[in-house]
Amino acid sequence: MTSQHPIIIAGGGPVGVVTALALARQGLPVHLYESEAHVNESPRAATTHAATLEMLDDLGLATEVTRCGLIEPRFRVWDRAAREIIAEFDFAMLKNDTRFPYVVQCEQHKLANIALGHLNALANARVAFSTRVCAFEEREDRVEVEVATATARRRLSGSYLIGADGARSTVRKALGIEFEGYTHSERFLVLTTSHAFDAEFAACSRNYFSDPDEWAALFKVAGDDGTGLWRVLFPTRPKETDAQALDEAAAEARLQKFFPKTGSYPVVHRNIYNVHQRVAAAFRRGRAFLVGDAAHVNNPLGGLGLNFGIHDGIVLSSLLGQVLRNEAPGDILDRYERLRRPLNVEFVQQQTIANKRRLEEKDPATRAANNAYLRATAADPAAHRAYLLRASLLDSVRGASDAAAMARGRVR
Ligand SMILES: Cc1cc2nc3c(=O)[nH]c(=O)nc-3n(C[C@H](O)[C@H](O)[C@H](O)COP(=O)(O)OP(=O)(O)OC[C@H]3O[C@@H](n4cnc5c(N)ncnc54)[C@H](O)[C@@H]3O)c2cc1C
Repeated sequence: MTSQHPIIIAGGGPVGVVTALALARQGLPVHLYESEAHVNESPRAATTHAATLEMLDDLGLATEVTRCGLIEPRFRVWDRAAREIIAEFDFAMLKNDTRFPYVVQCEQHKLANIALGHLNALANARVAFSTRVCAFEEREDRVEVEVATATARRRLSGSYLIGADGARSTVRKALGIEFEGYTHSERFLVLTTSHAFDAEFAACSRNYFSDPDEWAALFKVAGDDGTGLWRVLFPTRPKETDAQALDEAAAEARLQKFFPKTGSYPVVHRNIYNVHQRVAAAFRRGRAFLVGDAAHVNNPLGGLGLNFGIHDGIVLSSLLGQVLRNEAPGDILDRYERLRRPLNVEFVQQQTIANKRRLEEKDPATRAANNAYLRATAADPAAHRAYLLRASLLDSVRGASDAAAMARGRVR
């Protein structure tokens, strides 16, 4: 090994923990620091795509993730006003492309906790919660990282620093890297209900409703006891404040408008958040790297952001492993940014922006053209398969030969 210093990871979200596990399983020393006292359990991403399931399987996580989630092979796009299915897509079309021809709806905190359990079992990995990465300096052969708890500050030496510290990344800001892109004017409201939509949506639990006035999305997640919870996602209305959108009566009215029923909706969680389309201008500076939301953020339509972040971590851990074992020269680390940044723009930013535009489109002629495109794509087996290879990110890890080799952990 070139260095005995540990690789230091800032951030114990799902991307940080999976990245730490991918490094530690190669026998590399890893220290992970998370500023909060435990993994964030608020409702965030849940959809785990085929390309990610393959990677998680290589880390020994896919079986547990599947057990804690729900398997869903399909998704549907609806016309909300007409209550009519525009198109249904079925990942079973990919049965010859992947051993996971479906998505697993597993809440991201479960994935992080599962990976953490595996990480804690490895002697070469150290995890510290309630410890914030505050600052760092690069030296020729290492990084000097300052971490702080509520009561103390200390300095550590690391071989590399990985910023997996989310959209407001301290590491990205300290590196002076611009977070290029824009923030959508509306926020997204997520209402989680224990009302069982199962009767109405038995055939498919991932649904997108296009509507020029108020689009929506409906998903089922397993919930903590596995009995299932449904999340309904809406955009906020122009001039609506967060407090107005989160108001209990307003939430009930939105749900009743979405799907009228007798009796009120039991809402177990109301959550509102800003939505961005941003990509860091650089994913690497010297010995510091950015992965996950620290490097890129996007709207959640398509469930791509977290998946792509996990792919970042797998690719980077493969490259760092080869360099630290002296199997490859240090300059292969340049490939991380060279491949991952354009792939994010091409696969994640483009798809999520297009998904949102299709759902909210107001112009009747454009809506009709969009619907015709979706119908024609779903009806043609070759186009259907091609669409899903892209939507599942399988194309992004298999398309470019370098990227494919990286995803399989063999980069030369
Ligand atoms: C409300 C909400 C809903 C979302 N819904 C979806 C969805 O439906 N689908 C989807 O694909 N994506 C969704 N996303 C995005 C998805 O949650 C992120 O892509 C995912 O969390 C990225 O994981 P990450 O590990 O990179 O970052 P995070 O999950 O943000 O984790 C970063 C971690 O770093 C810690 N940290 C921060 N600074 C420091 C520091 N200086 N030192 C140490 N630790 C630090 C934080 O406490 C946090 O635990 C949603 C995001 C939000 C906020």
